[in-house]
Amino acid sequence: MNAELILKPGREKSLLRRHPWIFSGAVAHLEGQAHAGEMLQVLSAQGAFVAWAAYSPASQIVARVWSWQRERAPDATLLRERLSTAICARQALLPDAQALRLVHAESDWLPGVVVDRYGDTLVVQLSSAGAERLRDTLVGLLVELTGAASVFERSDAEVLALEGLQPRVGTLRGTPPGVVTVAENGVRFPVDIAGGHKTGFYLDQRDNRRLLRERAGGAEVLDCFCYTGGFALNALAGGARSVLAVDSSASALQAAQEGARLNSAATERVQWLEADVFQTLRRLRDQARRFDLVVLDPPKFAPTAAHAERAARAYKDINLLAFKLLRPGGLLFTFSCSGGVPRDLFQKIVAGAALDAGVNAQILRHLGAGPDHPVALEFPEGEYLKGLLCRVS
Ligand code: SAH
Repeated sequence: MNAELILKPGREKSLLRRHPWIFSGAVAHLEGQAHAGEMLQVLSAQGAFVAWAAYSPASQIVARVWSWQRERAPDATLLRERLSTAICARQALLPDAQALRLVHAESDWLPGVVVDRYGDTLVVQLSSAGAERLRDTLVGLLVELTGAASVFERSDAEVLALEGLQPRVGTLRGTPPGVVTVAENGVRFPVDIAGGHKTGFYLDQRDNRRLLRERAGGAEVLDCFCYTGGFALNALAGGARSVLAVDSSASALQAAQEGARLNSAATERVQWLEADVFQTLRRLRDQARRFDLVVLDPPKFAPTAAHAERAARAYKDINLLAFKLLRPGGLLFTFSCSGGVPRDLFQKIVAGAALDAGVNAQILRHLGAGPDHPVALEFPEGEYLKGLLCRVS
């Protein structure tokens, strides 16, 4: 007999709209006993079935829904269906991609399960108690469905602590992958699976990097927070006149240089600078340097809404400085991957930055993650990456 999670009166509302998170404040009590990650039936105060959810006693999100049908308890059959649907959708959308996200957690109805593919290596990140408990089943199914040669676990994101989970990094199947080289839209990147950020690479920027490449011909480009050169190498491939790429991580810049060699890029046109972006932007402003194209792709300044105010100041600061560095007609690719900063707030911050910089700017495009990072309509939290392509006049 599974334990049952009984909700407070009326607290099933968001669940009836199929939002998959159950916050501790919505729960009246737990009937029976359950371990972290175990599947429970969630019942309304009146005792009506609402969902099957995985229990996570250490988290504010005390349970996450895996199934909305009483007769479909989450089992291997249901997982196979979900994984297969997610993987087939990617094959249809991005048939030629070597590096892509196969499973995007709640947005693929697999709470806390992220699976990225780099060639024939899969990298999984399990960041919910339910996902972690299903590790063996998930990995077996993934190998069966994709034919991957190796599977590596990168469950070391900061959110794990909020779930009360221990970080886990290591080989689950096959041999340790080391550094894998993948091509993205024809540009090659070395990806450090075990040691790189996230699962090794920022797969979510694929479309935006290509867009930048299309606009980079003859441009003087400044790529801020360049990591392993995702935007910078695309700028070179697009015929940029010069690229100044800035990051504070020496190892990321080393990988970027290796990437430049892999692509036989004209390395004399790029300068890799290990420095703090906030200081570098000020220095460039003081030197009256000007660029045709600036990229701002900072790390998550606001992981949750609680950090939004401090994050807003940091976004405003870098965007203001970037606007000052752009020539008339210049382009700004500006991003926020902060879950705590919604799209409309980000746009307001960028508007304020342009105003204070004394420039007129227009939005040419709203940017976001590619189609391998879908957002389930009932789960707007899935849209973490937002960006604007702005033109200064
Ligand atoms: N644009 C990249 C991804 C950027 S991720 C791509 O396309 O792949 C954010 C990067 O910001 C990380 O590489 C991190 O090392 C760097 N970073 C964080 N804080 C920084 C700072 N204050 N100055 C410079 N780089 C910083």
